Amino acid sequence: MEGIYKISKDNKPVYVGQSRNMFRRWMDHERGKYPSPEYKYEVLEECSENLSKREQYWISEYNLIEEGDNKKEPDPMYSYVLRQKKLRIRNLKRLDRLYSTFKGKACPCGQNEPEVLQYYPHHQQIKSAVMRHGKDSKEVKLAGGLAALSRVVCANCFARLWDAKFRKEDIPFYLKP
Ligand SMILES: [Zn+2]
Repeated sequence: MEGIYKISKDNKPVYVGQSRNMFRRWMDHERGKYPSPEYKYEVLEECSENLSKREQYWISEYNLIEEGDNKKEPDPMYSYVLRQKKLRIRNLKRLDRLYSTFKGKACPCGQNEPEVLQYYPHHQQIKSAVMRHGKDSKEVKLAGGLAALSRVVCANCFARLWDAKFRKEDIPFYLKP
């Protein structure tokens, strides 16, 4: 049976739920938080459409968010924004972790701002491993190995080295390995 049901204790409603198969759902509840005969089960209405709307109607009818066990539905937009915010914070932390590995290091040209330093020539691999996994993963350990095989240079010098490699030009004196 599809529809909305109510669970009460001592004639006081404690929970309203919806289900496409109410009796099976009740068996789950009975084994869990609401054992019978302490808790009583009732069909409030049979319906097969707008289940969530009808459920919300009965939840507010019995004031079960305030006085019962029903929880406020999270606003989907709010949870989206929250998730994005968490992701942004996580990514910033991971970037910080990467920058912190440049502490005390400098490019041969003198640049030592961690935010513009990079690992030549493996920076992309190292950065994407850190951004995807944070710390403590096989990929990140591998990235650590690549970092040991790299030279720390600034973004400008990285580009010059990269260019020189493909044009087979002589690289600037101060960047010679
Ligand atoms: Zn430089």
